[in-house]
Amino acid sequence: MPYRWIFLDADNTLLDYHRAERQALSQVLKAFGFPAGPAQATRYKSINRECWRELEAGRTTRQQMRKQRFARFFEAEGLDVDVVRFADAYQDALAGQAPLLDGARELLEALRDRFALALVTNGIASIQRPRLERSGLRTFFQAVVMSEEDGHAKPHPAFFERALRMTGRPRAGDVLMVGDNWEADILGAHRMGMATCWYNPGRASRPDEVAPTLEIHALEELLRHLD
Ligand SMILES: [Mg+2]
Repeated sequence: MPYRWIFLDADNTLLDYHRAERQALSQVLKAFGFPAGPAQATRYKSINRECWRELEAGRTTRQQMRKQRFARFFEAEGLDVDVVRFADAYQDALAGQAPLLDGARELLEALRDRFALALVTNGIASIQRPRLERSGLRTFFQAVVMSEEDGHAKPHPAFFERALRMTGRPRAGDVLMVGDNWEADILGAHRMGMATCWYNPGRASRPDEVAPTLEIHALEELLRHLD
């Protein structure tokens, strides 16, 4: 058996985060009495993406971004809304949404007999914990590692060092990190000396020269590679 531990990312690797966001937005728009159709979903998606890019570029904080995206959305919708109240309601609704991706449960059922499993997520603990319980994912993992509000997140080495401490300090070479995010999951783990499996369902081209140990386009492919 080549690996002792498998570290898995949560959002868009096991959980369908895009669907969770759509469901949460629609639920809160309806609760506030606003239109909640495909036009709103598309508009919000593009504004949210723009706000995330600003966050990643360091031009805003996570806290500001959470309100900013709704301020811009409602301005575009021509609606006057208490953005803070809406953003809070959205976070609460999101915590209640945890749809799994196809094949996620089957993958974990097959892996848990052969490997120790850890969930390593950049999600905020107050939102991720209820989502993990609701999805039924929690029971599969010996360890759950989350980035806290002001702590280090993937791909920072300190995040992965914390993950190794929380899993009893396995050698990095005995760990396979599985995730969809090139920078956070694959480069972050690669720099630590871990093996990597890039889950790339959209068949995006590889952003740079680093080669992941494995690349899969559907979750069940991982099992074939590990046989
Ligand atoms: Mg992810």
